[in-house]
Amino acid sequence: MNGKFIKNEQLNFIIKQIALIKDSTNKNVPQNVLAAVIDLANAKILDLFPNASLEQKEMLVLAGPKTDKEYEQYIQNLSDFLLPFPEITQQQLKKMFPKHKKIKLPDLSNIDLNQLTYLSWNDLGYNKKFIVYELEGKMVGIECEFTPTSKKNLCSFCNSFGDVAYFSTVTKAKKSNNPDYYKSIGNLICVDSTECNKKISNVEYLNAFLKDSLGK
Ligand SMILES: [Zn+2]
Repeated sequence: MNGKFIKNEQLNFIIKQIALIKDSTNKNVPQNVLAAVIDLANAKILDLFPNASLEQKEMLVLAGPKTDKEYEQYIQNLSDFLLPFPEITQQQLKKMFPKHKKIKLPDLSNIDLNQLTYLSWNDLGYNKKFIVYELEGKMVGIECEFTPTSKKNLCSFCNSFGDVAYFSTVTKAKKSNNPDYYKSIGNLICVDSTECNKKISNVEYLNAFLKDSLGK
């Protein structure tokens, strides 16, 4: 473990809490209100790490208010403790999608595994988005059909407003009385997964979507 204990989405969550504190500071809210905002942020951050050691808790607690530079330093310090996305090879990725012999794979050397909650890439030749994620300790992959949209909208994964496309996937869930029935589920998801990974702060939806897709 070498002391690493923070996931990408957890650091994103912490960064969002800091943005809220900065926002209150900029609005010159009364001191007691600002103190309450900081207390709440601390409670939410510590909630993410129920098993944190005393040392880790000390590192996480935001005593404040701080200057921009101090917040930067705080985030920088936490970044050293990021748990990277598990190492994966192109060969392993190919095996996850055996149906696609000519699958276009992402250049893994260009991807910062520290800033990755889920690995995803688009293959416009197949009109597909591929998503790889460690679900309950096991690496899983799904493919989605890609339908471009022209409007910006909320992404289901990161909950941020941006360039999204409609991605649908056929699930393995079957109706017992109809073996030919396959349920399809769709979502608006960021087209650019690097951007999505910078913003995702909660994996609840991602987990549910993958479980649903895999019929778990
Ligand atoms: Zn997104």
